[in-house]
Amino acid sequence: MKELLILGAGTSGTMMANHLVKKLPKKEWTVSIVDQYKTHYYQPGFLFLPFDIYKEDQVKKVGKKFIPKGVNYIQKKIEKILPEANKVELEDETLNYDVLIIATGSKIAPQETEGLLGPLWRKDIFDFYTFEGALALRNKLRAWEGGKMVIHITEMPIKCPVAPLEFTFLADSYFREKGMRDKVDITYVTPLSGAFTKPTCTKALNYLLEEKDIKIKTDFAIMEVDNDQKQIVDYVDKAIPFDLLITIPTNMGDAVIERSGMGDDLNFVPTNKHTLQSKAHQNIFVIGDATNVPASKAGSVAHFEAETLADNIVLFTKGYKLKEEFDGHANCFIETGGNKALLIDFNYEQEPVHGTFPFAKVGPLKLLKESVFNHWGKLAFRWIYWNMLLKAIPIPFVGRNMSFKGKIFDIKSD
Ligand SMILES: Cc1cc2nc3c(=O)[nH]c(=O)nc-3n(C[C@H](O)[C@H](O)[C@H](O)COP(=O)(O)OP(=O)(O)OC[C@H]3O[C@@H](n4cnc5c(N)ncnc54)[C@H](O)[C@@H]3O)c2cc1C
Repeated sequence: MKELLILGAGTSGTMMANHLVKKLPKKEWTVSIVDQYKTHYYQPGFLFLPFDIYKEDQVKKVGKKFIPKGVNYIQKKIEKILPEANKVELEDETLNYDVLIIATGSKIAPQETEGLLGPLWRKDIFDFYTFEGALALRNKLRAWEGGKMVIHITEMPIKCPVAPLEFTFLADSYFREKGMRDKVDITYVTPLSGAFTKPTCTKALNYLLEEKDIKIKTDFAIMEVDNDQKQIVDYVDKAIPFDLLITIPTNMGDAVIERSGMGDDLNFVPTNKHTLQSKAHQNIFVIGDATNVPASKAGSVAHFEAETLADNIVLFTKGYKLKEEFDGHANCFIETGGNKALLIDFNYEQEPVHGTFPFAKVGPLKLLKESVFNHWGKLAFRWIYWNMLLKAIPIPFVGRNMSFKGKIFDIKSD
């Protein structure tokens, strides 16, 4: 028997286990998956926890439930990958592999910024990119009486690059509903030169920031968090004061990638952006947030990648040429508050544009325009995630590569 080993049972690893158990001949291949934790989190739900929109049990389930029969599930920490020996060391055993899939994701690294983990951490400084952080922030917001709220991105890339903006818009709505918006001064601070990584999208989002009276500070490269003065300071000595700081710390690949000498500066694995094969080792493939491909780090991207990667693993096991197919397709709802959302659909080459999705003219979802329908789409994604996406059940009408149907290219995006 040959061994296919998947590292990480988050969004990407779980999808790959479900795809490959169906695609690889059972008489020839054993499929195994390793993860350190029992709980699988629906991370997009972390955005809603601080505002009491979702409860804890809506965003977590036992991970093993989503691993199909016929796949060995190993709940252990991965210590080291030994790519030259085709082995992976766990805490107390060593596994061999013929083909390896790295799906170890990315996580926040607050220790990378001076002062971030100082005395104010989880008192007046919070993240919402972890389950614990989102819950601590929820408790803080329930009792907060107002002041200067600063939402801050440390550096790119981060997972779900739209999430900080969504948080900002939802905060505006939350305080309006509580009748205390006039007591809160909201500032959005980014290292980018605009609200988002994509210029057309930035235009639409700037308008919304203005409409909601949210200040934006761009090109802010943080040097330190000054806990005494309660301010963030950048390399040219600009300082932004806060009463409540919500920060998106540096995002990094897992330390196992560093220990194995397989990553870049941020522990992301150099990966072919069209085939998802590791650049350094032919029998290693990488998917989701763990890669260094220039696509968004998002569950939707991992879902599209998984379809191409499942085909490529089968081709690889048969000795055929890989498909150079993955186009960077990303599909993201952006919550804008007041029960509305925008939708954007783009890939490596194509910026988000106006139009309808998934069907031309009829939609029903609107691209780059706020609608209540888009908001329901965002909420429906949670059901789709648990019931279809993780189980690798095809989502009707949403193709792996970006479709140009319904997109409007000949009018200005504003
Ligand atoms: C606040 C927030 C909002 C988001 N919103 C959206 C959204 O609206 N839409 C969207 O598409 N995406 C969204 N995302 C992003 C999405 O959740 C991730 O892109 C997706 O989960 C990536 O999947 P992954 O499998 O690559 O990584 P993960 O799902 O993080 O899985 C990695 C797994 O590897 C395991 N692992 C890592 N290292 C080790 C080790 N050494 N030993 C054992 N196990 C290990 C981890 O325990 C984990 O289970 C959001 C993320 C956040 C944080």
